[in-house]
Parts: sequence; C-alpha cells; structure tokens
Amino acid sequence: MFKKILIANRGEIACRVIRTAKRMGIKTVAVYSDADARAPHVRMADESVRLGPAPAAESYLKAELIIDACKATKAEAVHPGYGFLSERTSFAKALDKAGIAFIGPPEKAIAAMGDKIESKKLASKAGVNVVPGYLGDIATTEEAVKIAKDIGFPVMMKASAGGGGKGMRLAYNEKDVREGFEATKREGLNSFGDDRVFIEKFIEDPRHIEIQVLGDKHGNILYLNERECSIQRRNQKVIEEAPSPFVTPEMRKAMGEQCVALARAVGYHSAGTVELIVNGADPSGKSFYFLEMNTRLQVEHPVTEETTGIDLVEQMIRVAAGEKLKLAQEDVPLNGWSIEARVYAEDPYRGFLPSTGRLTTYRPPAQSPSVIARSEATKQSSSGKSGLLRSARNDEPRIRVDDGVYEGGEVSMFYDPMIAKLISWAPTREAAIDEAVAALDAFQLDGISDNVDFLSALLQHPRFRAGNLTTGFIAEEYPEGFHGAPADEQLLGDLAALAAIVELTYETRAALIDGQLGQPVFPEAVQVVRIGKQDFTVAIAPYDGGNLAIVDGGEAIDVVGDWQPGDKLLVADLDGRSRIVQVAKRGRGWTLTTRGAAHRVVVVPRHIAALAGHMIEKVPPDMSRFLLAPMPGLLTRLEVQAGDKVEAGQPVAVVEAMKMENILRAEKSATVKATAAKAGDSLAVDQVIVEFE
Ligand code: ADP
Ligand code: ADP
Ligand code: MG
Repeated sequence: MFKKILIANRGEIACRVIRTAKRMGIKTVAVYSDADARAPHVRMADESVRLGPAPAAESYLKAELIIDACKATKAEAVHPGYGFLSERTSFAKALDKAGIAFIGPPEKAIAAMGDKIESKKLASKAGVNVVPGYLGDIATTEEAVKIAKDIGFPVMMKASAGGGGKGMRLAYNEKDVREGFEATKREGLNSFGDDRVFIEKFIEDPRHIEIQVLGDKHGNILYLNERECSIQRRNQKVIEEAPSPFVTPEMRKAMGEQCVALARAVGYHSAGTVELIVNGADPSGKSFYFLEMNTRLQVEHPVTEETTGIDLVEQMIRVAAGEKLKLAQEDVPLNGWSIEARVYAEDPYRGFLPSTGRLTTYRPPAQSPSVIARSEATKQSSSGKSGLLRSARNDEPRIRVDDGVYEGGEVSMFYDPMIAKLISWAPTREAAIDEAVAALDAFQLDGISDNVDFLSALLQHPRFRAGNLTTGFIAEEYPEGFHGAPADEQLLGDLAALAAIVELTYETRAALIDGQLGQPVFPEAVQVVRIGKQDFTVAIAPYDGGNLAIVDGGEAIDVVGDWQPGDKLLVADLDGRSRIVQVAKRGRGWTLTTRGAAHRVVVVPRHIAALAGHMIEKVPPDMSRFLLAPMPGLLTRLEVQAGDKVEAGQPVAVVEAMKMENILRAEKSATVKATAAKAGDSLAVDQVIVEFE
C-alpha cells in the first residue's frame, strides 16, 4: 500500500479523498492556488504545496507543477478527483513517465472514452445499446439535414469532444438543423478544439440513469448498481439518487452487464461511470442507451457508497496499488435509499444567478435532524461533520455532508459554484426524501445566495415524490422560475404560532434589559401575525416547559421548543409535528425560512394591528430605469450606447462570473440615457451599468 498520496484537486472532493486516506493510514499532500491558501483541504492534509495564482489554468491544471509537488514531497500516487486533470490522458501519461501511480483508470481507457463518436462505436461493438443515430463526423449542413431526416426528429446534434453540457443542440425540425448545425461545430471548435459533430435521436421522456463500475487490474469488473440523475438544470445535475425509482432488478442486471462488458472491452480498472439515457415512456425498461463513459470518480458517487456500504475512494486506492477486489457481483449490496442534493452558490429567486462572496455563516446540519432535534431538546451540542460510511446495520435515517468550505471562508469566482453536497440515507425513498428536506431546513448559510430553498422545493414536489422524473423536470415544473415552495395552511398556522412565541420571547428579553421601559410586554394576549399578505390571530399561553397556541380560534396547539433571542435555528414540536425553522430578525419583523421558502413575518398586538390600515405604505425607490449588476463580476460586453433604443428581451450587457456568461436583457422597450460602466470593468453587485430614459 502507498505511504503517501497527493490529491490534485480542491474543495469537497479533495477533502473527501483525504478523509479516506487518513482512515487507511496513508499520508496526504494537498496542492493549492493562492485563492485556496487557507482552504479546508489544505488544513486537513499532512502537507501542502502551493501551485500558483488563483486561475485554474495557472494552478490546478498545470500537470508539471503537480508532478514537481509529488517529487518534492515523495508522494507515490495521485488522486485527481473530478474535473481539472482527471480525464486528461496526457496527465496520466506524464505521471507514469515520472514513476508515480495514477489513482484512476488506464490511460488508454481514458483516451477511448474521451471522444463521443469513438466511444459509441466501441460501445456498440461491445454489445451495448447506443442511441440510434449516425456515428460519423458530418461535414456539411446539407448532409446533416439528410441524416437528421433519416433518423427522424427530434434529434440531438453533438460535438464529439463535448462535455459538461456544452456543444449540444436539440433540433425538432429541418429548420433547427439548418440554424444550429454550424453553431454546434463552432462551439465544439471553440470550447474543445475539435469541430466534429454527429447526430443522434433525441430520446423522449428522457431519464438520466448511470451505472457505477469498479474494476481491478486482475480482470475483475463489477457494477455497483445505478444512480438516477434526471433532475438537471441546463444539463447540470442538481439532485441524484440511488437506486432509481424506474429501475427493476431485471433492468439493473441488463444495464449492469452491458456496462461491465463495455468496461471490459477497454481494459478498464478503477471506478468509472457509464451514463445511459432511458426512455421513461417505455415501461418494459428495455429502452436504455449508452451516452458516454466518465472515466473518473463522479460528483454523485456518495449515493452509491451509502446504499452499498463500499467506500469508492478506498477501492480506487487499493486497485491503484494492485490489490484484487474482494467482492463478487452477487455480493454487491443494495441497501435502502440515498439522495444527494447539490448546494450551489446561486440565487434561485433571481434566475439562478451565480453568487460569490464570504460565507458569514456556514453551519451544515451536523447529523440526522432527529438527532439535532433531540440534542436541541437536551441542550447538548452535536459534534462535527459526518464522516464516511457508517455501519449499514443501523437502520436510522442519516445525513452526510461532503463539503470543502468553512464559515468565514470565501466562495470565489474562480472555481465551481458547488458549496456542498447533502446526502441522506434511509430504508425507503420516502424516508430518505423526508430526511433530506429536514436537513435542508437546518442548513445555515449566510453571506452569499444559495439554492437550499430550491432543493427543498424539488424534494417536496409531488411529482418528484412520485418518482415521475425526466431531464425536463425543472424546465417543465418551473417555467416561470422559482418563487419559493408553496406552503400549506398547516405550515402557515404553525409558523404563525412560532412567530408569536419568538416575538414574545424577544420582547420579554428586551424588557428585562436595564433602562428599558418596564412595561408588561403583552398587554394583550392576542397577537396578529402577518405572513406575507395573510393575517393570523394568535393567542399564546405560556406554561412551564412550553406554550399553548391558538391560531385563528382553532384547537390549542402544544408547542415545545427552546429558542432564545440570538438563536438562528428554532427546532420545535407542535402537537407532534417537528419543525426546523431558520429565524432572522429583519427590521421590525422576522424572516422565517423553512420547507423551501423564506416567509416575511410581522407580529403586532391586536390593537395596533387595527391601526395598521392607516399607515402610509412606504414606496421603494423606482430603480427600473437602471440596469444594475445582478452579481459581482466582469463586464465583458456592453451592447448599447447613449441614445440607443432597445426592445424587451434585447441583450444589453454581458457579465462574466464563476465561469458563466450572463446575458442581461432589457425588460421593456426603452431608450438608453447614459452608460455608467464600460467593457472590462469589474462590477459590484447592484452597480449601475446603464440608465434608461
Ligand atoms: P458528474 O457527472 O460527476 O456529476 P459534472 O458534469 O457535474 O460531473 O462535472 C464534474 C466536474 O467536472 C465539475 O466540477 C465540472 O465543472 C467539471 N467538468 C465537467 N465537464 C467539464 C469540461 N468539459 N471542462 C471542464 N470541466 C468540466
Ligand atoms: P456531457 O458530456 O455534456 O455530459 P452527455 O452526452 O452526457 O453530455 O449529455 C448530457 C445530458 O444531455 C444528459 O444527461 C441528458 O440529460 C441530455 N441528453 C444527451 N443526449 C441525449 C439524447 N440523445 N436524448 C435525450 N437527452 C439527451
Ligand atoms: Mg454526461
């Protein structure tokens, strides 16, 4: 076994690999860019080596610097994580030349699977179903039109070298092909330096289901069941799960055996993933087709670990060291259900704009919410983050958080916007979903925008819960964007009761502070709680150890919980319903966030509420004349100048942040009065870019 390994990555995946190495008694070396000098992966590792400045091209993507770091620290092997150098044959080759082991597949397997046309030909030869289409490089638009017609619309035009959802276009008719073919070629050339494009059938009701494979250097190859990753936004995965609600044992076996055959055909070893696209409208389960193989550890690998009890990183390290797999196919467990939700630094309420900045609060749910609830009740603080695999004997739902950030740290614009992965496990799918929703309620993040509410809304969505998924789920269910998960009457009633108790506790505390007017705080026992635009009348009667709450004259609710002014998290039990609510004081009122939505709440005594109708409403200043920067970033293009007329939807400016180009469009037709920034400027959030007449 290796004595020391280097992890050629950053963030959560670097931390993830280091944890397993530590458990195996292997010393670790981290590498870092200037932006990451104090990052968790650097602090977790036994040693660390600086690579260079923040941009990946000058640090994490520099193979020669990583090889130098191995030599300097005498690391015997390199784990590449995902992204960066993980799928570069040149990197695997360079390591080999330097006598350093690559904790990943053989170089020729990476090469064979790196090209979509070639890998499909290989897959087809190995007896794997491939998406019907034309497996050749198509030269002209005329040829593309003819081929598309032969295949039958709709079709996908794909750059052979594409990846990460780039270089892909859907065509419903001849016109789409004529308009999009050349653009797809250009995208392939610009992003991947290769303009070969092929065409395949677009599979309708598509579900993305993938098979985890694991092989050793002695010819043993296993499949570790499937993961379903159909919940995607712009071809980027958001929620993944294992097993798939669509897959039967027969289908699992058929898919698994085909994928193992493919892995065998390219002499695969280590962990890898074969991605399949499945026609969800065919209940026979026979319509599954090869998409591509990712020759690395996948972001969503934890759901496989949680349901099989196999630590994939450990297996990768053992295989790289030449060990044999100690498992036969029949012995691969499939235990319970696991769901992963990717917590991204983005604002779902503002069109998923990426967000950067300092994490002023970062408190992931430490353990299963049932544990949190209990420890809150007994006022015992829960200990650190969850580690790796727990014993599969325990049937209690559980939570695992894989992250690589810390409170006070920064989410920078240089790298991926993923902050953390929240993984839940439970004996059933329903329970695993419930566990994840409760854990998201307890996930505290401040300082930047995050998608926690959106993840919670997805997990609560009846169609998600029914397992009725396709890759179009988000586009179909949120055509107008995201505005918070809907709250039912029971939740609103509970929030009204909790808000009244929070206000009472807060006012009581304030009244005890010296120098405050020593008035009884609640001359009236009845409060009016306004949540959004809805009013609730709430009467509170405290007793030793809890409160009775009567909402809108209904039955008394027994509320047990412990909240003190300053606490950001309120865990309470209302007649047996467990609620985990994030509490923030905002001006005169509160923001209560739970179950996928942030609720603006104001609590006032009834006699004051009666007067509220006489208040003059404060009108916020009209900023609609200005185009403001929605996030900090670089103004790469300004498409207008003073005097220009623009129409609704017309691009006005392009702001680049976190590797993404964001096109800012005019909301209505208008004339440009003045421009307040120019291309090349660094923008702060809400900085004025353009002023309209
Ligand atoms: P997975 O299939 O494992 O979920 P993703 O598609 O989310 O993988 O990508 C994993 C990582 O690799 C992410 O950090 C992503 O930014 C990066 N990545 C994926 N494709 C590319 C690419 N073509 N170029 C650069 N980075 C990529
Ligand atoms: P990438 O290399 O960018 O990950 P993939 O070929 O894996 O590209 O496709 C990414 C996603 O695009 C899939 O997960 C699926 O949602 C969608 N997709 C790709 N090809 C098809 C197809 N033929 N039919 C339907 N959806 C597809
Ligand atoms: Mg893919």
